[in-house]
Amino acid sequence: MTRVFSGIKPTGHLTLGNYLGAVRQWVERDQHQADALFCVVDLHALTVEHDPARVRRLSRQAATLLLAAGLDPERCTVFVQSHVDEHARLSYLLECVATDGEMRRMIQYKEKSVRERERGEGVRLSLLTYPVLMAADILAYRTDEVPVGEDQTQHVELTRDLAERFNQRYGQAFVVPRATHPPVAARVMDLQVPGAKMGKSHESGAGIVYLLDEPEAVRRKVMRALTDSGREVRHDRERMPGVTNLLEILGASTGADPRKLASRYSSYGALKKDTAEAVEELLRPVRERHAALVADPGEVDAVLRRGAERARAMARPVVDEAYRAVGL
Ligand code: ADP
Repeated sequence: MTRVFSGIKPTGHLTLGNYLGAVRQWVERDQHQADALFCVVDLHALTVEHDPARVRRLSRQAATLLLAAGLDPERCTVFVQSHVDEHARLSYLLECVATDGEMRRMIQYKEKSVRERERGEGVRLSLLTYPVLMAADILAYRTDEVPVGEDQTQHVELTRDLAERFNQRYGQAFVVPRATHPPVAARVMDLQVPGAKMGKSHESGAGIVYLLDEPEAVRRKVMRALTDSGREVRHDRERMPGVTNLLEILGASTGADPRKLASRYSSYGALKKDTAEAVEELLRPVRERHAALVADPGEVDAVLRRGAERARAMARPVVDEAYRAVGL
């Protein structure tokens, strides 16, 4: 059976981008078709300045939201990264096959390190090595497929390189995984900041739809979305990024082809109204289930405890074998 692994960082509230780019595929496809593990990758939240109490709160919220979005712990393994020591153990071994040049070429590192420097903070070494820990997350489970948004493509490529290099040097310890993306909305953009992806750790909340936003907030954000100059509704990422983003969101929310949707609209107002309604409908059940789960925190704890036990049992032999392979 295909093994699937993917994760989400508890660095902010989950967004529509996380949902359409990743989580929905986990819920609707992967947990049914594969032996799947989904992880709240809390160690990754420490790569930039963080508040300990907030990370803890957001980890629990992310896990609760994954269940609210429809992950079924009877069908897949849901757990928190720091509960399974194997991730950090394997990360060190992979640091011994990765090079610093390779790390410095990562686009996310380049972007985030500039931001950290501008804030006057030093750049944490873990920000540089973050993709190695991500590779360890994936390789520890002999993962075949990694369902992610487009922004993670480069990191999965690096994971493949590290797995191949390790296997070549020390024998076949790892499966070489591949990334999978949703057909539509693999990169949801911020509704206010041109060229920026809708990211949960970004500062501007006005252009970000959060999974727990009330319908009124969703409507306000979508209706105020920056559109392009002109009035034409066309699917054209280069020339009409604002409109194309709305078409992608509407298409992904309703299951329609965004290119075909374009011909149905002759005004931005109508497109925004339909998009707002579709997103409200999409998020309503998630919000409702989240409210029910929050009322029963013991249930989430139990799921995460069982998840960590299962994950540990899978990762331990793989990581032990890798340690033996390098001569330890
Ligand atoms: P963020 O960038 O919001 O902090 P994470 O790094 O935790 O998100 O990513 C969790 C998953 O959500 C990844 O698979 C990532 O590719 C996906 N993702 C994040 N933002 C977007 C977006 N704007 N559009 C599509 N997918 C996204």
